Amino acid sequence: MKLVVVTDATVPAELPAVARSLAGRDEPVEAVTFGGAGTETGDLARVLGGHGVGRLHVARHALLDDYAPEAWGNALAAVIDRLGPSGVLASAGDRGAEVLAHAAARADLPLATDCVRLAGDEDGTWHVTRTRSGGVLLEDAELRAPVTLATIAPAVEVPQVPLQPAGECEVVESAVDVPPELARTRVVEHVASETGLSLATAPVVVSGGRGVGGAEGFAVLEELAERLGGVVGCSRVATNNGWRPHRDQVGLTGTKIAADLYIACGISGATQHWVGCMDSAVILAINTDPEAPMMQRATYAVEGDVHEVLPAVLAEIRRRAEEPAVAESVERQV
Ligand SMILES: Cc1cc2nc3c(=O)[nH]c(=O)nc-3n(C[C@H](O)[C@H](O)[C@H](O)COP(=O)(O)OP(=O)(O)OC[C@H]3O[C@@H](n4cnc5c(N)ncnc54)[C@H](O)[C@@H]3O)c2cc1C
Repeated sequence: MKLVVVTDATVPAELPAVARSLAGRDEPVEAVTFGGAGTETGDLARVLGGHGVGRLHVARHALLDDYAPEAWGNALAAVIDRLGPSGVLASAGDRGAEVLAHAAARADLPLATDCVRLAGDEDGTWHVTRTRSGGVLLEDAELRAPVTLATIAPAVEVPQVPLQPAGECEVVESAVDVPPELARTRVVEHVASETGLSLATAPVVVSGGRGVGGAEGFAVLEELAERLGGVVGCSRVATNNGWRPHRDQVGLTGTKIAADLYIACGISGATQHWVGCMDSAVILAINTDPEAPMMQRATYAVEGDVHEVLPAVLAEIRRRAEEPAVAESVERQV
């Protein structure tokens, strides 16, 4: 059996598809998720059924109610032990990586993260290609173990496998034991973003680095982001200095984004930052140093001081917003 691990309400279609491609003939693909007493799983089961997953195991315990990496990882190790799958797959988000890492460590099993290509031999050996250093390197690896764990990157190659007919996904309750000391990391509060946008999915990200000069320097970036329908991001220097929270950080140890427009203000474009923003469709860099890597790689580069360029850009946006008639007449002429 191949086991797909579901760590939030959504299941990317490639996850069960890759699991099916690795599954031997007559080997089923099943799923596992985590929850407390009242966690609803009906919608998830319907989605999984549509992907040809025949069974959803729900590891239940009061301490699994909300995301808790050590506890979920421990529960996953128990489920692996009970079900005996030959392979376990999860999406390569923060949750997938954390939960599988905890489970692999507890069960002493091998884990390959961020895989973009996976193939299995008859003897159970997996050949994977995985991204390293935020996607600038590709590494080939071979895994041979009774149970192999892997996380699947969004860019994974989905092999052509026969379409599985959509069917009923049976929900199987699976009570697990969670030692209280494993509830070290717990969600204490959910804070909804005021705009409803997240850094990972916003179409526009206006990001600031050391060149912004301090926390108060981000006010102008906030206004620009709001007017463009986006969110504010930052470099690690900004988080290290306490100017912005870590959730705003773009990069290798922050969030990887693929915005329609990324505006990098006073950011040098170090590799660890670049790998987080390089998938954006259009990148605009504003920097006093024309030789900065971000200026060299950006789609558009403005050489200048962010404290002069950004207020000028905002003043023009405000002026246009207040004079819709001018904007309309320009549109008609074009
Ligand atoms: C393991 C590891 C993981 C890392 N992960 C991340 C990560 O996830 N994200 C990340 O961002 N970094 C990460 N880093 C840090 C990274 O290497 C860089 O140190 C960091 O990105 C630099 O931030 P910065 O561009 O804001 O600062 P700097 O590199 O100091 O660049 C500041 C830039 O601002 C320009 N500037 C200065 N004043 C102005 C002005 N007034 N107007 C316009 N431009 C101005 C300068 O010319 C310069 O180009 C990581 C490092 C390591 C070792």
